[in-house]
Amino acid sequence: DLLEKDGLAPWYSKFESFYIRRLKQKIDDCFAIPTCGVPGRLITCIDRDSHDYNSRFTYPGTTSTCLNLSSYNYLGFAQSEGACTEAALKSVDDYGVGTGGPRNTIGTTDLHLKVEKTIAKFIGNEDAILVSMGYATNASLFSSLLDKKCLIISDELNHTSIRTGVRLSGASVKPFSHNNMHKLEALLKEQISQGQPRSHRPWKKIVVAVEGLYSMEGTMVNLPKLLELKKKYKFYLFVDEAHSIGAIGPRGRGVCDYFGIDPNDVDILMGTFTKSFGAAGGYISGSQQLIDRLRLDLNAQNYSESIPAPVLAQIYTSTKIIMGEINPGEGAERLERIAFNSRYLRLGLQRLGFIVFGVDDSPVIPLMLYTPSKLPAFSRMLYKRKIAVVVVGYPATPLPSARVRLCVSASLKKEDIDYLLKHLSEVGDKLFLKFSSGVAGGT
Ligand code: PMP
Repeated sequence: DLLEKDGLAPWYSKFESFYIRRLKQKIDDCFAIPTCGVPGRLITCIDRDSHDYNSRFTYPGTTSTCLNLSSYNYLGFAQSEGACTEAALKSVDDYGVGTGGPRNTIGTTDLHLKVEKTIAKFIGNEDAILVSMGYATNASLFSSLLDKKCLIISDELNHTSIRTGVRLSGASVKPFSHNNMHKLEALLKEQISQGQPRSHRPWKKIVVAVEGLYSMEGTMVNLPKLLELKKKYKFYLFVDEAHSIGAIGPRGRGVCDYFGIDPNDVDILMGTFTKSFGAAGGYISGSQQLIDRLRLDLNAQNYSESIPAPVLAQIYTSTKIIMGEINPGEGAERLERIAFNSRYLRLGLQRLGFIVFGVDDSPVIPLMLYTPSKLPAFSRMLYKRKIAVVVVGYPATPLPSARVRLCVSASLKKEDIDYLLKHLSEVGDKLFLKFSSGVAGGT
């Protein structure tokens, strides 16, 4: 495979170094663990063959039910019970599973219209548009609105889907250091002619693209400062709320809710239903003018099958629960639980001496391992203790900053987190992961 064939470079040639390729293969063994069943508070994983860690998974095989810190299930809606599941099951009776076409042919049902209205109301915008996949939402958004005469200024840690969309648009791209508002302002100053800030010369449009909550870092966008810069330099603002919608803010309405900002001050609010809603698909929310424009030629909507009914039922019911319009009180309780669990776990880890990244309210907590060779060991030691986690290393992170991403869920009980902390402490000692003996306020 590694030899040139007919003068063509081999498929593998992108991974220039044998060392990296081998490391990645080994790490993959602890990444891609197949599961069976519901990815809720617990998750059932298919075990590796015997103790040979180099072997691949075989199916059927033995399974282990683990405490789940690996799924994006922030509000616990992935659980297969309750109002969401009832609605999803009923929708299969009423609508079937497939929709039979894209939105602009025969794939629009009354459920699609109802969900779009509900999402727009939840977020606080005039309208919203649905797409079957979060990734495709970003990948096709920018080419719908921008061309090569435009400029996109993009946070260097933006998700691949944003980077793909940005590239496909043909617009010029300038990255800025993660969350660094000074660097962003310097770039804006450089790009906009002095004294003529409204003209955007030489650019037709300028878009600043950021995420609400960065899931690899646990950091949150500095939205108040961004809006200040927006007023001063006149650009369009795009915020991807994949990890913040539902999980952040007193009413679960994302970063605008968190900072007490009118969502209409942001031009494009994008999000996904794969995390807090326990469903699938993406959306864009904004002004009527923006959404009308996108309905015309958002390729991911017009050339791809629309969202199936059971998924819509799950989105609709979970959103209404968060809004308190179905099962009043349940949404508020879930929001309280995710906020409590996130802070309780983070503080517990800090007290044990682990290095964790991100802000206190982040429901995803990156615990730093640094050394990539610790990834498989960490993952396997926790798996033995019936805890499922996602480890992340190169190429998703720089080589020397391997980490574990602990995804907190409202479905976890306090005892679950205590169990997790106890075992993490043991594993942390064995792998020399504790860098200090506690933080201020800790013991
Ligand atoms: N944006 C961000 C910030 C993401 O993290 C992800 C996926 N985790 C996506 C978009 C794509 O969303 P989906 O998985 O719903 O396709």
